[in-house]
Parts: sequence; C-alpha cells; structure tokens
Amino acid sequence: MITDNIETQAIRLQNERSQYAEHSTPLYLTSSFVFDDAEDMRASFAEEKEKNLYSRFTNPNTTEFINKVVAMEGAESGYAFATGMAAIFSTFGALLSAGDHIVSARSVFGSTHTLFTKYLPNWNITTSYFDINKPETIEALITSDTKILYAESPTNPAVDIIDLEYLSAIAKKHNILLVIDNCFATPYLQNPIKFGADLVIHSATKLMDGQGRVLGGIVVGKKELIREVYLFSRNTGPAISPFNAWVLSKSLETLALRLEKHSENALKVAKFLENDSHVNWVKYPFLKSHPQYHVAKKQMKLGGNIVAFEVKGGIDSGKKFLDALKMCSLSANLGDTRTIVTHPASTTHSKLATQERLEVSITDGLVRVSVGLEHVNDIISDLSQALRV
Ligand SMILES: *Cc1c(COP(=O)(O)O)cnc(C)c1O
Repeated sequence: MITDNIETQAIRLQNERSQYAEHSTPLYLTSSFVFDDAEDMRASFAEEKEKNLYSRFTNPNTTEFINKVVAMEGAESGYAFATGMAAIFSTFGALLSAGDHIVSARSVFGSTHTLFTKYLPNWNITTSYFDINKPETIEALITSDTKILYAESPTNPAVDIIDLEYLSAIAKKHNILLVIDNCFATPYLQNPIKFGADLVIHSATKLMDGQGRVLGGIVVGKKELIREVYLFSRNTGPAISPFNAWVLSKSLETLALRLEKHSENALKVAKFLENDSHVNWVKYPFLKSHPQYHVAKKQMKLGGNIVAFEVKGGIDSGKKFLDALKMCSLSANLGDTRTIVTHPASTTHSKLATQERLEVSITDGLVRVSVGLEHVNDIISDLSQALRV
C-alpha cells in the first residue's frame, strides 16, 4: 500500500502505469486469457502463479476495483460482483450450510430480507431478527447453530444506527462472524473492520458509483473467508463485468469529494426539515436529536447523504408531498448526484402490514431523501414548496 489516505488510494492504486495507462487503466474486454505454453497454463490453473485465467474468475479491471476497496476498508482481501445482492447471496452461499442460523437486524435491505425469509429456508438456513434499537436483545437469539451476525448501519430507509463495536464484542464472545452491509456509509465514512467486522459488503451501485450508471457489488474482509467466497463465486458465476468494474474504479477517484459534499448538503437539508412546521420529526446521523448521535459520531466520519423524516398527515400527505416535487426525482436508486425522494409506506414497503412496517421504523408519513449534489438552496426550496402544497 502506498499510503493510508483513502483519497490517494482511490486515485493511485492503479494496477498498471505505463505510457498508455498512466491516467486511465485500459479496459480489458476479454472473456479469457492466453498462456505462454502448456507449463504456464498448468501452473496458472494450479494457482502456483497469480494469473488471470477467465473473466468469470478474475479480470484486471475487476482486480483494480477490488484492490482499491480492500485498501480503503483496511481489509485483507476482496471479491467483486455484478450487483450488491450477488455479493450478499454469494457470501451466505459460500459460508453457510444446511442447519446454520443467522442473527440479523430486522431492518435490512428489502431483497436481503426476502433472501432470509423466502430462499435460505429452502436450504434449511434460518434467521432470527433483532430490533436495531434494542441491541441488548441480540445475545438471547444466538444458538449453537448461529454462524453469522448481520446488520446495516445506517439502515435503509429509517437511518437508524447500531454500535459496530458492540456487535463485534458479541460476535467475538460467541465465536460467530460479523458481516456488515456498509452501503449507506461507503468506505470513506465508516470502516467496520476497524470496529471488529469480519466481512464488509457494499452495493457499489449506490454511492460508490454515485452517478446512477452501473450496478456492482463487493465483499472485503478476512483472507480465508474471502477465499471461500471466491471459490463459490468462480463456480456459480456472479462476476462483475470488466466494464462496470472499470467505471467503478474511476468513480472511487471522486468518492471522498462527493461524500464531503453529499454530507454537507444532507446536514443542511436535515436542519431545514427539523425547523419546518409540516414535519413531525427528522432523522440524520449527525443531527444532535438522532437517538444514536454519539454512536454515529464515534464510528462515522460524516453523516452521509440519507435523511429520513415524517410529513404530518400519514400516507396521503406522503404521496401528496412526492407529487408536488418539481426538481427532486422519484426513483428507487440512492446515492446519485441527483436528489431522490421515496415514500416507503406506499412503495418499497407497501406489501407489509402497518405493524410490520413499524417494526422496521417505517411510519406512514416517512419520507427518505437521498440528498444529491445540486446546489443545496435548490434542494431545500423544492422540498419546502412541496411541503406547503
Ligand atoms: C441497493 C442495496 C443493496 C443491493 O444492491 P444492488 O446493487 O441493487 O443489488 C444491498 N444493500 C443495501 C443497503 C442497498 O441499499
């Protein structure tokens, strides 16, 4: 590693520096690679040499993207995937067997929740859930079959925070793996490995790309665990395309800058909403009123770009507010340069009963804002006029 500074790693950890590749690594759009002779090929397949064989296994562009995130997260190793969900599924697929048990925060990304409730049970892998705001209830859920403790922080869409150091102490005590989905924080704002996580997962689709262009996912962490994830993936095929990895490697070059500005804009938006009479409450990790403000300050560099708030008047007011927006986009993505607003109760979480929504902190009037990089005055005026319609 050339430096401990994330800004430099994201720019200078290039796998090739030459007359042709000084400022942008060439794109290796090739499915497979050629060997010098039979012995070279034998040794490469036997892993006596570190060589690219086939792009389902490794590819130079993918390796560059992985190396950057590994350095930025302070990890030992990593593997990249076509999407965040491929990263999550492959991690469980590689590390769990029939009969194993997961203890997970109840408020996790929707498709992760579906994986736990609908698919993993088909392989006799079961999950117990804890309320992220009641971490003292976690230990009672751990059994002799528990292999993984799983959580996201901040959570989607309610921006709850959980103490990573606390989770890690529990995982160590019970000799289970701590796996953290760090998507909302990015390696710039939070490094779960520093607080004891074994594996860190990202949907690179979100803030890592940050410009709404490509899908991607990555897992980084302990070498021996990543080795299992790699072997599983090389045989099951969730590999990221070299082009997407190339885009993501370039995206990381501006991650720090973008996150500084995203977080600055988001804090201003959160403060504006906190003082608006049409709003019941606002949640943002770096607002003093956030219930876990001190935990957020301990483990995050800045508050990130997601703000949650409740419009007065429930489901109908939430939908009315969205319809009144003139600039902000209505979209399921987040972490884009564009400010994106969603109303979970009428969209992503509409299939849940009110009680189930409340268990993951989603009230009828909850609005999630992924604060973008437009001028903050324009973001605030759009939100403000829509609250008044
Ligand atoms: C989007 C997201 C995912 C899934 O990522 P994809 O790239 O869409 O597959 C997983 N976890 C969190 C927290 C996310 O926001």
